[in-house]
Amino acid sequence: MQLTVTPALSSKLPQVGTTIFTVMSKLAAECGAINLSQGYPDFSAPQRLLDLVAQHMAAGHNQYPPMAGALSLREAIAEKVESLYAARYAVEHEITVTAGATQAIFTAISACVRPGDEVLVFAPVYDSYVPGIELNGGKAVYATLRYPDFRPDWDEVRSLISPRTRMILINSPHNPSGTVWAESDLDQLAALTRGSDILIVSDEVYEHMVFDGARHVGVAAHAELRERSFVVSSFGKTYHITGWKVAYCLAPKELMQEFRKAHQFVVFTVNHPMQLALADFMREQPRFARDLSAFYQDKRDFFRRQLEASRFELLPCAGAYFQLARYAAISDEPDTQFVQRLTREHGVAAIPVSVFSPPGDDHRVVRFCFAKSDETLAAAGERLRQIV
Ligand code: PMP
Ligand code: GLN
Repeated sequence: MQLTVTPALSSKLPQVGTTIFTVMSKLAAECGAINLSQGYPDFSAPQRLLDLVAQHMAAGHNQYPPMAGALSLREAIAEKVESLYAARYAVEHEITVTAGATQAIFTAISACVRPGDEVLVFAPVYDSYVPGIELNGGKAVYATLRYPDFRPDWDEVRSLISPRTRMILINSPHNPSGTVWAESDLDQLAALTRGSDILIVSDEVYEHMVFDGARHVGVAAHAELRERSFVVSSFGKTYHITGWKVAYCLAPKELMQEFRKAHQFVVFTVNHPMQLALADFMREQPRFARDLSAFYQDKRDFFRRQLEASRFELLPCAGAYFQLARYAAISDEPDTQFVQRLTREHGVAAIPVSVFSPPGDDHRVVRFCFAKSDETLAAAGERLRQIV
């Protein structure tokens, strides 16, 4: 007779399985495929940054830092944000270091969204947002970034805003499409939210990857919008250290106060020696982040050249480190099926773009991550060119 029985649990996220990034990276490893699916670099972080971590560990900075983040890091963030976006965030009250952008976004949602609140998202939508909304009792309302240009339709957004709209989640440069919003998009958002209590969460983790001379228009630089916004960026993307999970959130004092009430009981604080090393590195090498756009633009161009003679149709890529490719000339399989076959039979793993949208929005497009060494990109290119 069985003595212990696991209690029945009705899922709070019945529609959710394992994230596509885990699924595809696991399949890539099993098949020995080149992994252009999950977004992370296959090259090293700057050696100086690694040395600084070791130094801070050896110097004994191995205990809890302040709850909001190491002071030197918050100061370095404040200086960076002021120099790039001409916005001053108070080190004491308006900047919090988080365990990745994922935690920052989740914490902003949990601090602000009540059961029954509506949260507007733009699909294709990064996969952590909607579960974060639903776990907090909110309802995701989808605006469409319409294929193939993935631009916001502000008339549609206006029609979706209701008295129950508590928050709008935005993301530029955009994962997965690589589109970059213009100043006029932020003006439209400001106009639509003016006079309301709607909050904005602006996911700007790819702020330092914008191509062809364009500029990232940060919400911090928008005098009106920043008053209602949580702005999130991630050191993981900027310094090739996605595995460290260190990011930050900026918000006006009143909003940050609520954010920290949740933050302190979710993680309390984040890896201390990494924070100290990042603070030093930001001060020593301010150009590193500024040069990142040129670095990734070269990678984008290199990868696109690899695919020129292939049967993939490349979509424009204005920012972030993802290249979208349409494979309709190769196959009419659904994208979730195509990426499986691409990985198993052709040895290159990619992300199916339809998983970022409500069901039924499959344009036969896959996402390749080009944050890889030129050798990796060339090897992938060779395999992809052979597919007919
Ligand atoms: N937002 C977007 C748009 C992302 O692409 C990612 C990760 N690639 C994150 C948030 C999460 O960032 P982190 O790894 O710092 O949690
Ligand atoms: N954000 C990364 C991507 O889009 C992956 C992060 C994750 O695996 N959660 O590929």
